[in-house]
Amino acid sequence: MTTYEIERPDGPERGIRVRCPDHDEETEFQPGHRRGTFYCSICGFEIEVALHDTLDWRDMGEQC
Ligand SMILES: [Zn+2]
Repeated sequence: MTTYEIERPDGPERGIRVRCPDHDEETEFQPGHRRGTFYCSICGFEIEVALHDTLDWRDMGEQC
C-alpha cells in the first residue's frame, strides 16, 4: 500500500506539500497556486491538488 502525505508547513505562508514517502518524491505548492499536480513517476500516478483557502472562500457559482 502506498500512502501519500499532504502537509501544510507551519509558517505565515499557506502553501502545501504533497509527498510520496515510499519513493521520496515531493512537490510543494506555493500559496497563490490554487491548483497543481503531483506526479510520482515510480508509482505512475498523478494527483491533482486543489487548494482552497477558506479565508477568502466564496461560492464559486457567484464568480461565473
Ligand atoms: Zn510513489
